[in-house]
Amino acid sequence: MKPQAARYAVIGDPVEHSLSPRLFGLLFEQLKLNANYRAERVPTDQLGAFLKRVRAGEFQGLSVTLPHKVTITSLLDGLEQQAVRIGAVNCVRVEGKKLFGHNTDLGGLVRTLHHHLGGHPTRKKVLILGAGGAARAAAVAMGSLSAAEIVIANRTLARAKSVAELVDHGQALPLDNDLRTACAKADVIINATSVGLLSRADPLPETCALRSHQVVLDLVYRPLETALMRRARESGCTVIDGLWVLVYQALFQLALWEGRDVEAVQAEALHAALAPEAR
Ligand code: NAP
Repeated sequence: MKPQAARYAVIGDPVEHSLSPRLFGLLFEQLKLNANYRAERVPTDQLGAFLKRVRAGEFQGLSVTLPHKVTITSLLDGLEQQAVRIGAVNCVRVEGKKLFGHNTDLGGLVRTLHHHLGGHPTRKKVLILGAGGAARAAAVAMGSLSAAEIVIANRTLARAKSVAELVDHGQALPLDNDLRTACAKADVIINATSVGLLSRADPLPETCALRSHQVVLDLVYRPLETALMRRARESGCTVIDGLWVLVYQALFQLALWEGRDVEAVQAEALHAALAPEAR
């Protein structure tokens, strides 16, 4: 009898435009895995009922996207340490009838920087724009790389303060024109706001000049080159798009679900195949 394919899904609301089904489809193909992956729209009031179906064996693992990344943390049987610290889950691993929450955005971000910079950027001065779940993962990731300084700049200052408290050498600032000095000092700048998503808006105030030694990573990957990235490219910076983080965090998810080494996966091929869809 043919073995049953493993079943995975991304849950969110909305979820129709997620690139994850295409990404995991390519990944299963590359690894010759007998598995399928689909997008499941799950409204918040149906999340508990949906997780019952997962406990009953309908899925072997889940990717989790907005608006469930925080809500789901209280509905699982356990959380790995980084997910507790970040306060958000983007991956659920199923063990029998138990569900465990992980956060692979952190690993995806660290792996992306390693890929592009040819090593881990340690002891850097970092400026993170935003204070939502992605910013929390970015702050903890940069903290894990022993950043010398982590400035969190956000429209809502109180949220920036709570992210800055997550890390050593963290500082909170409002996301406004006074960011000039912090921007000039930064080695690495990460956009973790949703500004630029499906728009030409730029989250970094105009008064902040970019310099060619700086690395600029935009977690927004639709469009693939955001206004911030274009400005950084024109300033001679090293520019990295968010699609890399999406690819690498997916590899970490698959490693958790299937318990296998994914080092051999060609991340470049996945990025190249998905790039036209993110434009
Ligand atoms: P979130 O929790 O909703 O946070 C959104 C952030 O954007 C908040 O800091 C918010 O500031 C800020 N923001 C929204 N509109 C703004 C505006 N008009 N001006 C200034 N700041 C504004 O979202 P998230 O989960 O952290 O995700 C953030 C972005 O990262 C999204 O675009 C998401 O797609 C992307 N992301 C990418 C990856 C990847 O794999 N590449 C992974 C995770 C997330 P306030 O606090 O003031 O509201």
